Amino acid sequence: MTHEAATGGAGGPGLPQERRLVTAVPGPRSLEKFARRQQLVAAGVGTTLPVFVERAGGGVLVDADGNSLIDLASGIAVTGVGNAAPEVVERVVAQTAAFTHTCFMVTPYDGYVDVCAKLAELTPGTHAKKSALFNSGAEAVENAVKIARAATGRTAVAVFDHAYHGRTNLTMAMTSKNMPYKQGFGPFANEVYRAPMSYPFREPAEIDGVGAADRAIDLLEKQVGAANLACIVIEPIQGEGGFVVPADGFLPRLKEWTSANGIVFVADEIQTGFCRTGDWFAVDHEGVVPDLLTLAKGIAGGFPLAAVTGTAEIMDAVHAGGLGGTYGGNPVACAAALGAMEAMETHDLSAAARRLGAVMTHRLDGLAKAHPCIGDVRGRGAMVAVEIVGADGRLPDPVRAGALSAYCHSQGVVTLTCGTYGNVLRFLPPLVMPDALLEEAFDVLAEAFEATA
Ligand SMILES: *Cc1c(COP(=O)(O)O)cnc(C)c1O
Repeated sequence: MTHEAATGGAGGPGLPQERRLVTAVPGPRSLEKFARRQQLVAAGVGTTLPVFVERAGGGVLVDADGNSLIDLASGIAVTGVGNAAPEVVERVVAQTAAFTHTCFMVTPYDGYVDVCAKLAELTPGTHAKKSALFNSGAEAVENAVKIARAATGRTAVAVFDHAYHGRTNLTMAMTSKNMPYKQGFGPFANEVYRAPMSYPFREPAEIDGVGAADRAIDLLEKQVGAANLACIVIEPIQGEGGFVVPADGFLPRLKEWTSANGIVFVADEIQTGFCRTGDWFAVDHEGVVPDLLTLAKGIAGGFPLAAVTGTAEIMDAVHAGGLGGTYGGNPVACAAALGAMEAMETHDLSAAARRLGAVMTHRLDGLAKAHPCIGDVRGRGAMVAVEIVGADGRLPDPVRAGALSAYCHSQGVVTLTCGTYGNVLRFLPPLVMPDALLEEAFDVLAEAFEATA
């Protein structure tokens, strides 16, 4: 069935918003290309679904065999504005024709400063803010830690159970899950300490958000000492760790404690930022104003760009020349970010995220009634997941989660799994997805529950 494209998305104007299967998924052309990939690309680089994409826009990916797949991944929460969004393409084309690189540290240009201005305006709090731009989320997290250490003169970093912060050496240490992110890659950076997270589905109901925060604070005070902590780094809603939404009150209590103890509060909004959760940033929901935010993924409609944005005084604690990188804030990536943020504003993609989230949650609540293997439906806005469990209602069932995802793939719906236990199915549609196409994807998911029962 063909649905109206929500935007004139360029992958593009005229790319029908439909699920259309003309071969098996993956089809013969994709399989041939995948065989070549296996010969030439390092085995350590994984693949969720081996279809080779040739065009994409709105809510669909079109593969080399002509199959049109419904995209519930957005390239891991990146293409919130849709693939090849017109606002992004236009600015990227113009910037590419003008110049492609100077290195901002050699000779600056407006795009970088314009992105910093936009981030100061959109991030929480009315205080003076500054930003520094980088290439990837992991690089932003590394730099947030550098800035926090320089600002406090302290070294310890606190992170949480189930956290994901990246694949570089420091961010591997900060990431919780061993396999596949850390196995065999040590030794890891020291001075990283892990505290318990608020994970309502997997802890007793009497532990509320404030109680869970106090539990983490107690551990950090006893095992590390507040006076040694440069920063805590926390995802307001965890991404790779399983879309864990902490109980209400958890983040505000942590923020209160960090402020009282001179600890920099870093919100890692790399997955949750830029309208994904129905607000510009996930912390907006609880009225928490972080000292620093790390931003990437959704920021630039698919171009590699990342940022650390925060309190001017903290950002300015680093000596001149202490931050940077050859490509950080590349002019083409900055042009893409300005286009993406314009698209978020003109199409009110926060409202779109809330609407898509309501559709998904409604469908998933219905499925949960029929299928006891759905232990929990959670998330916010268009960042929604189900946790798949065994007959006891708790034991993680990663095999069933994998089978559900595989069924969706075979029927032309791109889904992702995540979670410490690998048993969480997560849904991250582009925020420009037509509602009817999303409904069709969830019809397929409903079939998947029947087919894998
Ligand atoms: C993806 C992600 C990162 C790492 O970003 P990369 O661009 O892959 O380096 C860090 N933190 C969170 C919360 C993420 O989701």
